Amino acid sequence: MCAKVEHHTHEITYEGLLQGNKDWVAATLAEDPAYFDRLAAGQKPPVLWIGCSDSRVPANQITHTNPGDIFVHRNIANVVVHTDMNMLSVLDYAVNVLEVQHVIVCGHYGCGGVQAALGNKQYGIIDNWLRNIKDTYRLHYHELDIISDEKKRSDRLVELNVMEGVFNLTKTSIVQNRWGEGKKLGVHGWVYSLETGLIKDLQVTSNSGTHISSVFKMDGQDSKKA
Ligand code: ZN
Repeated sequence: MCAKVEHHTHEITYEGLLQGNKDWVAATLAEDPAYFDRLAAGQKPPVLWIGCSDSRVPANQITHTNPGDIFVHRNIANVVVHTDMNMLSVLDYAVNVLEVQHVIVCGHYGCGGVQAALGNKQYGIIDNWLRNIKDTYRLHYHELDIISDEKKRSDRLVELNVMEGVFNLTKTSIVQNRWGEGKKLGVHGWVYSLETGLIKDLQVTSNSGTHISSVFKMDGQDSKKA
């Protein structure tokens, strides 16, 4: 099923959201009377999406997919850190219960969170979250500091933040245990362009832990019993 493409230019109101829901249900049922029966039966999405909370980067629309197709986790600037219980819970459920085949970290150029991380302004609590991106900057400042164009510099940090997210996923026991069981799982890094609507694959896909430096390699689960 592919919904009609409608680009709203009118003001979004609270009441309008509920009316929009009714209209969507009616239009969906007119096209496919069994649509909700099928979705209500359960989900088996093959993909976990970790993206930015930015309202302009919704996982389903930009990949032309539908409800039921993608398991989604979003936070400001699509940060992946191993102290985030929310992210770890989503990852564990997606990998071990839903058995997704792919995990995609998708950032976007022009990300306000990444731009803020490059600056010195205090925004409040969020500064602590963006500190994770400053830590990524610290790993790559030699490369970033020689980019004089501010937009290009922040767009490069967008890419590096996604790559760091991919690496951080491969360091989790969740992903490593899955690979240790011989199960197929690809971890990918993408960046979306708000200006063209197109996604760039950063080609940092990992299907095994071979690239991880040894200090991050966990022994298999059996070692816990030893
Ligand atoms: Zn963003």
